[in-house]
Amino acid sequence: MDARKGNPMDTYRVKPGEKIDLDQLNPGSTGAFKGEKEEALAATQKLNAQLEELQERLYAEHKHRLLVVLQGMDTSGKDGVIRSVFEGVNPQGVRVASFKVPTPAELDHDYLWRIHAQVPGRGEIVIFNRSHYEDVLVVRVHELVPEAVWGRRFEQINHFERMLADEGVTILKFFLHIDLDEQKQRFLDRLNDPAKQWKFNPGDLKERALWKAYQKAYEDVLEKTSTPWAPWYIVPANKKWYRNWVISTVLVEALKALEIKLPPVFSEEETASYRAQLAAE
Ligand code: AMP
Ligand code: MG
Repeated sequence: MDARKGNPMDTYRVKPGEKIDLDQLNPGSTGAFKGEKEEALAATQKLNAQLEELQERLYAEHKHRLLVVLQGMDTSGKDGVIRSVFEGVNPQGVRVASFKVPTPAELDHDYLWRIHAQVPGRGEIVIFNRSHYEDVLVVRVHELVPEAVWGRRFEQINHFERMLADEGVTILKFFLHIDLDEQKQRFLDRLNDPAKQWKFNPGDLKERALWKAYQKAYEDVLEKTSTPWAPWYIVPANKKWYRNWVISTVLVEALKALEIKLPPVFSEEETASYRAQLAAE
């Protein structure tokens, strides 16, 4: 898993059923870049230009849909990924759905109800900032429902995602892997900068105290819900620039694999006739 070289599509993808020990995976890894930040930034810029073009084609073709799921502990960089990876893309055709503590109306329904309502339509990319996985993470750690209930959700989630995939949704799931030290530093950065304090929530420290339980819950998620139709990627996320490069790479490769073609919409005669009409003005 922690191979330093190679394509992130393979290096960081979790194989179905693979046992994961997060302590054994280095969140500070910078892969083949060996700490060369500038090199990685330049490579990411190129990837983002490709992403921009691919997204435009996806939108124009109006056929495929792309769902990107972002999960990770507080400060792991979910917001940062959304900001930097999708910097260049046309906001038309890209949407972010953030999942917070469920509202009373949401709690009156099954846990996938609010999720299903946000999945991408044709030609659309939707990024989930947190997701249905909260229902086997925070819900498990805080025992919000009994184990008998959350325990069966892994299979339900796999079936749900399978259905989406069968219906033409490409699903990519990223776990942003940071360590305790990095989180402490990022909390301190938030506290030390008045412009960032709004991001700090006193409750975050309570969640931090439950770090071990969360890591265990994440390990189960990664082992049980990485499927051929909706794979998980474990992204080393201590270094933001490496995290962004990994995610951009996976997204570009996945969009390229769709082989989006934009054949002419009009016949040659039609095109000639429209040209002639414009020329006659
Ligand atoms: P943030 O992403 O920092 O804005 O925080 C959103 C909060 O909502 C996090 O503490 C999540 O754990 C929590 N949350 C999201 N989904 C659920 C859920 N299904 N049940 C309980 N809490 C949730
Ligand atoms: Mg938060």
